[in-house]
Amino acid sequence: MHIVVCVKQVPDTSVVKLDPVTNTLDRSSAPSIINPYDAHAVEEAVRLKKKYGGKVTIVSMGPPMATAVIKKSIELGADEGVLISDRAFAGSDTLATSYALTQAINKIAEKEPVDLIFAGKQAIDGDTAQVGPGIARRMNIPVLAQVDKVESYSQDNNVIRVRRKLEDGHEIVESKLPCLITVEKEINELTYSPLTNMIKAARYEPVIWTTNDIEVDRSQLGLKGSPTVVGKIFAPPKQSGGEKIEGTAQEVVDIVMDKLINVHGLFAKEGV
Ligand SMILES: Cc1cc2nc3c(=O)[nH]c(=O)nc-3n(C[C@H](O)[C@H](O)[C@H](O)COP(=O)(O)OP(=O)(O)OC[C@H]3O[C@@H](n4cnc5c(N)ncnc54)[C@H](O)[C@@H]3O)c2cc1C
Repeated sequence: MHIVVCVKQVPDTSVVKLDPVTNTLDRSSAPSIINPYDAHAVEEAVRLKKKYGGKVTIVSMGPPMATAVIKKSIELGADEGVLISDRAFAGSDTLATSYALTQAINKIAEKEPVDLIFAGKQAIDGDTAQVGPGIARRMNIPVLAQVDKVESYSQDNNVIRVRRKLEDGHEIVESKLPCLITVEKEINELTYSPLTNMIKAARYEPVIWTTNDIEVDRSQLGLKGSPTVVGKIFAPPKQSGGEKIEGTAQEVVDIVMDKLINVHGLFAKEGV
């Protein structure tokens, strides 16, 4: 089974700051890390490889420093990795990103057909959760999104059965391969990497492809190929403390009901 995992380098959003002047992420304020969902995607791919045999290839799009997440993925047990990196990709929104990654995966598949593609549910910086489904749509393969468990895989009929996380429960679905799966963090627990993987990762030099190495229509890349416009980025206002209402139980209920109805418009639609 040849599994490709899409891995993004992201700023650690638990510490990143917003530039108050430009309203953009101040990337220098935070270390770059592997998108946490993607680490779980690599872990799951490696588990499947160990069970059914095959190979795990990483693909990432980003600046040259993004080779670090490919090395991290090798440490987690992946076999190979390709970084697509070119100034032409700069400014890509999710439409252009999914296009560039699809073209890279198509090139990877020329050497060895791809059976399964993994992506994270979302990136912790962009948060759109669009890139995985975007790649699946472009490749015309099924997408199983928000998967928190791989139930089984049948080599006989080439069908994978997974559990999807829904807002109010779970759903078990099956798909024939090839398909694309986006993963939740609960899909597995990250294991410690053996020393041999660490040594392999330290020595590993990821392949870097530019737009000269993959077949791309340049008008679909970068700012030119990105219809999304970011109007403004801002930190949400800090939550102010709640109001303390004092009085007898009846008085408190009256005040709360008054606020709900007259301030927050409760029942307004029903005309009560
Ligand atoms: C107008 C515009 C300009 C932008 N310019 C830039 C820019 O210059 N530089 C920049 O870094 N970002 C830029 N971005 C942000 C960038 O487009 C998004 O981060 C990117 O498209 C992925 O979207 P997301 O982060 O919401 O990923 P999601 O859709 O939330 O990610 C889901 C999964 O898709 C996969 N994935 C997503 N992105 C990548 C990737 N790059 N490589 C491999 N796998 C990936 C991962 O598996 C990830 O878990 C720009 C966005 C817009 C709208």
